[in-house]
Amino acid sequence: MKTHDSKPLSCLGLLLFALAASASASPLALTHASVIDGTGAPSRPDTTIVIDGKTIQAVYPSDSQPNPKDARVEDLRGRYVIPGLIDAHVHITDVEPDIAHYQAFLKALLLGGVTGIRDMAGDDRLLGYLAQQSNSDAFVGPDLFYVALMAGSTFFDEDKRAQAAAAEAPPGFASWMRAVSAQTDLPLAIAEAKGTGATAIKIYANLPANLVRAMAAEAHHQGLRVWTHATIFPAKPSDAVAAGADTISHSAYLVWEAAPLVPDDYGVRARGDFVHIRPDAPRIVALLDAMHQQGTILDATLNVFRDEAQHHPEKVGVGIALWSYAVTKLAHEHGVLIDAGTDGSGLPDDTDGNPDLDALPEVHAEMALLVEHCGFTPIEAIRAATGIGAMAMGQATTRGTIAAGMRADLVVLAADPTIDIHNTTKIAFVVKDGTMYRRGR
Ligand SMILES: [Zn+2]
Repeated sequence: MKTHDSKPLSCLGLLLFALAASASASPLALTHASVIDGTGAPSRPDTTIVIDGKTIQAVYPSDSQPNPKDARVEDLRGRYVIPGLIDAHVHITDVEPDIAHYQAFLKALLLGGVTGIRDMAGDDRLLGYLAQQSNSDAFVGPDLFYVALMAGSTFFDEDKRAQAAAAEAPPGFASWMRAVSAQTDLPLAIAEAKGTGATAIKIYANLPANLVRAMAAEAHHQGLRVWTHATIFPAKPSDAVAAGADTISHSAYLVWEAAPLVPDDYGVRARGDFVHIRPDAPRIVALLDAMHQQGTILDATLNVFRDEAQHHPEKVGVGIALWSYAVTKLAHEHGVLIDAGTDGSGLPDDTDGNPDLDALPEVHAEMALLVEHCGFTPIEAIRAATGIGAMAMGQATTRGTIAAGMRADLVVLAADPTIDIHNTTKIAFVVKDGTMYRRGR
């Protein structure tokens, strides 16, 4: 009886398997598109991108060879293709009340062109789950990479966000919200950070240069990236760069490099002297040259400080927005790699302070600021939000650029972004891991 029953079942199973295999065996050819590949290279007109499964198989001039046999062809005449956008600085773990809302939130980011996000501190228990779901495409959303945060113990006594993100553990004792001192067993603390599934440690606040150096060395030794605040208090930007930080966050905090005194408490971080310290002060220029030399990425986060200066001027130093633009422009001129990060949920807030799922992701605004205030060409701004974003996430070998062998994460635009950077918002459809997503479907 049992063997008799199982026979038709296994035939059906085989049939289903064959159908699935033939569907995934049929490549997708995006033909006659203008391609901006995320490396900073000029736009390539009339180009075909062949996608096989989750991967870009080939990129070539459309007339140079026939479309692959059996390919599904999407004629993209008059369309522009850029890599999927990467918001290199978000915090998503306190923005939605439950998983159903997170699914809608992540989908809104993806439909807005964002195929990758770097979460720069939150509750790693939730981040680990969301990353698992989104990175495997079980949820429709961007790929997610995140940090385990480390800071001096005084930070955890005063910072409510850090306490909330590790509720149930005493402040500074969670493996993703860790207080570090000269007595800390660094190899163990870093191993526990790695155990959260984090890609990097984020060195945040209230730590001296010698400890920053030891933490960065141990993290790199264990295969983790090192992402820091530009000024860690009292460790300065040049201390972070000398320690080997892979990225440093917030252009505004570079001001402390030329400050006469850097306090040992991060509370003053946004209150630098933007009036008297010039962005081109010799110590800052020397720092930018060192960053260029070492390939340290500047995570500029311009939009968030512009917003603060506009809506909460009491929280930030006078002149912070213009100073940030100026130093970012100078960094760009000195060859420093700059990513595009928004330091929020990734979406603008609605009137109730929740992520506005109908709005476009803020990384589009961050790119526009790079063009309008920091001397970037549109192609350079797109590179910041794609190729360099992928470097910042530690994912440059598989994401962020359009080339054979890379993941098929793309945004197809209805208007030319090289003429007007705001055209990155004119999204026809998004491709993530080879699957096409359109708004309203
Ligand atoms: Zn942040």
